[in-house]
Amino acid sequence: MKCLTFIILLIILQACPQKFQPVKTVPMENKEAKNNPYYSRTDTSKLDIPNEEWKKILAPDLYAISREAATERAFTGKYNEFDEIGDYYCAVCGNHLFRSTSKFSSSCGWPSFFEADKKGVYYKRDTAYGMERVEVLCKRCDSHLGHVFDDGPKPTGLRYCMNSVSLEFIGDSEK
Ligand SMILES: [Zn+2]
Repeated sequence: MKCLTFIILLIILQACPQKFQPVKTVPMENKEAKNNPYYSRTDTSKLDIPNEEWKKILAPDLYAISREAATERAFTGKYNEFDEIGDYYCAVCGNHLFRSTSKFSSSCGWPSFFEADKKGVYYKRDTAYGMERVEVLCKRCDSHLGHVFDDGPKPTGLRYCMNSVSLEFIGDSEK
């Protein structure tokens, strides 16, 4: 009986091989990150890459912001005035950071969100420039993303003030 089942299975496999082809799961890769071997929107394993290596891979503006905590000029970022439906990923490593439904229009000049993916970010106290702030970093690659403030809208009351350069948006229609 087992043998018969096996034979039937073989016949089915031969009759319709296309049904048993593996499903393509390779996501569309970030164009800017095509030379970045660490970039992946599916691999969530922690990265520990020294800055000397990142410097060879990342565009100068992304390196300055993500690895040296620079800030892009207000009102210049590509996602400041942007409201498409989709997800925001770390431009350095592809880690998921925000969903567009948590983005809100703030007048601060940088893309703002009221909620982050808890698995995507972590926080650090930042006292640079004589200010008391909370820095937001990528959990996978430790890149600087921006800061979080407590003057955001409901339901969280938080305002994640992010650099557009640090983000990579993928619209739902592109997935
Ligand atoms: Zn990252």
